[in-house]
This record gives sequence, structure tokens and C-alpha cells, in this order.
Amino acid sequence: MNTKQVKAYGTTTATEPLQEITINRRVVQPHDVEMEILYCGICHSDLHQVKGDFGPFPPPIVPGHEIVGRVTAVGSHVNKFKAGDLAAVGCIVDSCGHCEYCNDGIEQFCDEGVTYSFNSPDKISGGHTFGGFSKTYVCHEKYVLQMPSFTNLAAAAPLLCAGITVYSPLKHWEAGPGKKVGILGIGGLGHVAIKIAKAMGAHVTVFTTSASKVEDAKRLGADEAVLSSDAEQMNRFDRQLHFIIDTVSAKHDVNSYLNLLRHDGTVVLVGLPPEPLEIGAFNVVMGRRSFAGSNIGGIAETQEMLDFCFQHNITADSEIIAIQDVNEAFERLEKGDVKYRFVIDMASLKN
Ligand code: NAP
Ligand code: ZN
Repeated sequence: MNTKQVKAYGTTTATEPLQEITINRRVVQPHDVEMEILYCGICHSDLHQVKGDFGPFPPPIVPGHEIVGRVTAVGSHVNKFKAGDLAAVGCIVDSCGHCEYCNDGIEQFCDEGVTYSFNSPDKISGGHTFGGFSKTYVCHEKYVLQMPSFTNLAAAAPLLCAGITVYSPLKHWEAGPGKKVGILGIGGLGHVAIKIAKAMGAHVTVFTTSASKVEDAKRLGADEAVLSSDAEQMNRFDRQLHFIIDTVSAKHDVNSYLNLLRHDGTVVLVGLPPEPLEIGAFNVVMGRRSFAGSNIGGIAETQEMLDFCFQHNITADSEIIAIQDVNEAFERLEKGDVKYRFVIDMASLKN
């Protein structure tokens, strides 16, 4: 297959910083869309993967899966997009297209294995996918989203992962008027979850380990914010909440949050701590509570989420950086020193 050389930022080992490299992207196939990447968010999953938290990766790794761009070329069979359109790519860039999960629009659970936008075996090239820390992206039109014309496009990029990852469970577990929703961890995912859950009409309580975020949570729209180290404050919410989204990226005690659920309530884990979590039997048996998980969302639901956020004027609170500062951004993300999402302005990567 013919390829084009493209500038990117990546690394070959978990111990080396990211640096400028050249990758090969396929030339546009009949159903492909090619875009010049304008902005790419930095998700904690990018950090987990370059650190090797989820196991070794085939080198080189080019992270980035919150991608907003402008279409530069389309294949002969594409009619959903044309050159000049705003477009976006999130986490999914391929799936089998015919299993029951793909047919149900939950491609993220594809029977044959979903192809993620980076560090994922690529059935088409035979290699692996390269993410959005690069000048261009190419994939099948089916996985390309129509990007609404957000006034602040950079701040909308994080919706492509952080947004859909919280929108999908909020919708599935029916967040809305009369529902008390808890959000655990105010990072990239958590702060967007506050905005989306409020827009859905739920009552929102956030739980944070960071004293500095308690006041800020209210600015973001939370009804209540709790410093999780304060046992007295935590006790106030004992058996109060219908549903909690857990966005924490490191090992933590989920049992104290299961205790905050009403009967039949659910804690939904979206965070991906590399180590297993422990669940106490009594924390779920009492009250018939559930501990569940959720993984991003399907393509149609991602489009629905983008349109919902556009309509409700929801974007991420973002710090825009140049690609040359990406290693420092990763270090700061690891320390929790970002309010609340880094977004790379890809114009900083020169051709
Ligand atoms: P992030 O911006 O780093 O936010 C994570 C937040 O978790 C932190 O801001 C912090 O919030 C809290 N936290 C961190 N370490 C903690 C600890 N040791 N104990 C308790 N709380 C801690 O990360 P993100 O980008 O939002 O991603 C969050 C997690 O979701 C990551 O593991 C990521 O890989 C995963 N993820 C999963 C999916 C999926 O589909 N399931 C999709 C995207 C991301 P406070 O300061 O408020 O305590
Ligand atoms: Zn992500």
C-alpha cells in the first residue's frame, strides 16, 4: 500500500521522552478521509500507554486520540465529507462492522476487536496505528465525526475521549432530573462529567483528593464538592447517591464509594488503574449494589455527544500547549497539575 511520510511525536521505549519522528500514513483509499490535525487533547490513557502501564508496546508509539482537524482529501466513494470541512477522530478507527456489537452501534466492544486510533494492531497496514500527536490522520469515513463549529475548537477536542467516556455511562445509567450522581476524581474526564451530568439535569456531587478543586468544582457546576479525606463530609453522603462515575487513574479504595450508593445503585469505573481493585463483599451485597465498568462509546453515540455538548455550550477547561512541551505536560498530568486538560496546538509541529 502506498504511504506518505508525516511528522509526529512519539517514542520507542517507555523510558525515553517523546520526540519528533516521521511515520508513514496510508494514502487515501476510496472510503478514507484525510485531515490535517489542528488540535489534539492529552488523555491520561496516552500517559498510561507511553509509560507501559498496560504492557509493552510495539515501537514507535505515537499517542493522541482526541483529534480535531480539517479535511484535506477524501476518497472517491466518500460523500459525507469534503475538503475544508471540520472533522474529528476519537478512540475508534476500525471494527469488523458486522458482529452484533457493531450492528448495535457499540463498536467499542466489537467481537473481532476494535482498532483504536493509536497503538492498536491495524488490519489495513499490518502494523499498528499512530495517534494524533502528528500532522495528519487518515481513516475510513465511518469513524470520522462531524465536528460542530465550536467557538473554541481547541477546548472541544477533549470531548472526543473525555466527553464520550462520561456521556455514555451517564446516559446508560439514566442521569437526569431526580437522580443524584457522584463523580469521583476531577481530572480531564471528571470535570467534563460535571458539565454533562448537570446539562442532563442530574444533581451532582463530586469527590476529590485535592483541596484546591473543592471550590473550583462549584464553578464547574457541581452542586456539592467533598474532600474525600474528610470522613465527616463523606459520611453525610452515606447511602445517598443513585450512581457514581469513578474516573480515578490510580489504585484507590472503591468500597468507601460503594457505601455512598442507595440500594440498587451502581459505581461505574471508567478510570484504568493498572493494578486490580479490591471489592468488599458487604459493600455490594448490602443494598444490592453493583460495581460496573464502561469503555468510551460507539461512533453514533460520539456524534450524539458532540451535538449535545455543542447545544449546551460544553467544552473542556483547557491549557493549550505546543507539541515541543508535551513531555513536560505528561509530567504535570502525572502529578495532577492541570486544570483540566492539556490540548496540543498542532500548528506548533512544522512540516
Ligand atoms: P486525569 O486528568 O489525570 O484525572 C484523574 C483524576 O483522578 C485526578 O485528577 C485526581 O482527581 C484523581 N486521582 C489521581 N490519582 C489518584 C489517587 N491515587 N487516588 C485518588 N484519586 C486520584 O485523567 P483522565 O484523563 O481524566 O483519565 C482518568 C482515567 O480514565 C485514566 O485512568 C484513563 O486512562 C481512564 N480513561 C478511561 C477511558 C475508558 O473508556 N474507560 C477513557 C479515557 C480515559 P482529584 O484531584 O480530584 O482527586
Ligand atoms: Zn482517552
